[in-house]
Amino acid sequence: MAGRKRKHLKALGAVVDSGRYHRVNHSVVTDLERRFTNWAGNWTTRAVGSGTAAIHVEIDYYKDRGHHVVTAALNWPGAVGPISISGLEPRFVDVDLTLAGIDDEAAADTMGSDVAAVLVTHLFGNNIRAPRTRAAARSRGIAIIDDVCQSIGAVKDIVDGVYLESDALALSGNGAKHLGAGELGFVLTKDLGLIEHVDHVSLTSSSRSGARLFSAYSQGYNYRPNVFSAAIAGSRIKSLDQQLQKRRSNATTLWQMIRDLPGLSPLFDPTDHNQSMLNFPLRLEPEMLGFFQASAGRDFIVELLRAEGVPVLVWLTRPVFEYLPAVCGRWNAADFPNTMRLLDTMFCVSEIAPPNDAEIMKLYADAFHKIWSALPKILGRGA
Ligand SMILES: *Cc1c(COP(=O)(O)O)cnc(C)c1O
Repeated sequence: MAGRKRKHLKALGAVVDSGRYHRVNHSVVTDLERRFTNWAGNWTTRAVGSGTAAIHVEIDYYKDRGHHVVTAALNWPGAVGPISISGLEPRFVDVDLTLAGIDDEAAADTMGSDVAAVLVTHLFGNNIRAPRTRAAARSRGIAIIDDVCQSIGAVKDIVDGVYLESDALALSGNGAKHLGAGELGFVLTKDLGLIEHVDHVSLTSSSRSGARLFSAYSQGYNYRPNVFSAAIAGSRIKSLDQQLQKRRSNATTLWQMIRDLPGLSPLFDPTDHNQSMLNFPLRLEPEMLGFFQASAGRDFIVELLRAEGVPVLVWLTRPVFEYLPAVCGRWNAADFPNTMRLLDTMFCVSEIAPPNDAEIMKLYADAFHKIWSALPKILGRGA
């Protein structure tokens, strides 16, 4: 911890020493972009203000291709908000139960001529390959946008050694994500038109070349990256692979110790060495444990785990359209059974990152076992 703090202070100190705390062409920002491009290995990178800004710029760039954006009903409101902001309408499809990713078949079937883009959100560190959807989008000129804000590893060659078939990836560097750099986002793409678009819409008065330029295409978004956050992010790239390894091994270790508990399963395979394990998502079968109502059962277990000191959280509890006033009321939760099932039965173990290690995972596992062995008694008394 002390080492990390020192490293961050050094990175921030370099910004102070530079005498300039802003500008997209600050060497701290361009260094970060170059280093991230090298780490990812396939895309050109532009740093922007946030992950949400990255998604907005990307949808904005492709918005003339149609009027709808196909995306999953189990989603982060910040990922879906930019669809309406761009003047388009979301078209929701259900998710598959094994990954909480967009249902590949259902999504592929909705790729009509009125669709501008498909937005594939990768939640919790999973990888959503969705090959049929990507192929259908490609054959119809529909843009493919990947929200990898929670899955930084998905920018790498994760599809059997090949990169995701994607037009644009959006990444977040915010404090709760892998780069943990405050407020920061990235646009990753091979589409140089999109890169130009980032530069046009996200700056008003300072261009990449340093000229005081007011672009005729400016939309005044001012999605400039924070230079201090860029400095922190840049200092963390070197240890990113190590961080991911540790997250994966922590989750794998924990899962090995709790896998025999009935009614419990991981959302995605923790031993998959390509996933990014932001939080460790687990699913319950509350009925198997003797609960009549799924979400109440899940909440009860989560409360017990918390009381034992396990850092667990229930993240989203509603399908994404219910969080968004612009689209709320036009969609019905009952039409998305897998989304609802996951929302009712999922929870995450959150502190899976280093410096936590196998010893801490053992403490978490002990708490799971203690609760599972007490459950019959607890529930029996309640009946
Ligand atoms: C965090 C997050 C975003 C937005 O990133 P910010 O940097 O917070 O704007 C978008 N989508 C998902 C899935 C996220 O987790």
